[in-house]
Amino acid sequence: MITTNLDKLKNYAENYAKKSGTVLNPDLEARESVLNGLAKHKEELGKPLCPCNFYPDKQEEVKRRKWICPCDEMQIFKYCHCLLFTTEEGVPITEYLPEWHEGRQIYGLVKDPFPDKGRTLAKFEKIYQNLKEHAQEYNVRVSEEDIKSWAEKVSKK
Ligand code: SF4
Repeated sequence: MITTNLDKLKNYAENYAKKSGTVLNPDLEARESVLNGLAKHKEELGKPLCPCNFYPDKQEEVKRRKWICPCDEMQIFKYCHCLLFTTEEGVPITEYLPEWHEGRQIYGLVKDPFPDKGRTLAKFEKIYQNLKEHAQEYNVRVSEEDIKSWAEKVSKK
């Protein structure tokens, strides 16, 4: 069963990478490890919950949907913190994240080679909500105004 899920997930991931203007991480070990984690969650929970986070309650997390692959972060910012969907160089795109976000802190500025693809949820309200939650979760001191102006800047019009 896990093998079937794994095959399906590989297909899905290849298609999604093409659609979103990313590639599957050229580091095969890193790529396989994320795909295996997703397949395990698909088997266990019925959904490909992101394997790179800790969840106090996985069933509750599935209901929230925020971290079902492709997660909100991927669909809003084209940022995959698991490093499954990356650039050709194997790094995640961070161009749409504000400087205080952990993705920018870790990887610096990584430009999007295909800005016309992906980011289907990059609307102002979604970006604003996501960044607010992120700032709270990571205890980042950032003003409401800064979050709003960043959301305005990177939202798809
Ligand atoms: S970070 Fe998001 S896009 Fe990347 S593997 Fe996890 S759920 Fe999927």
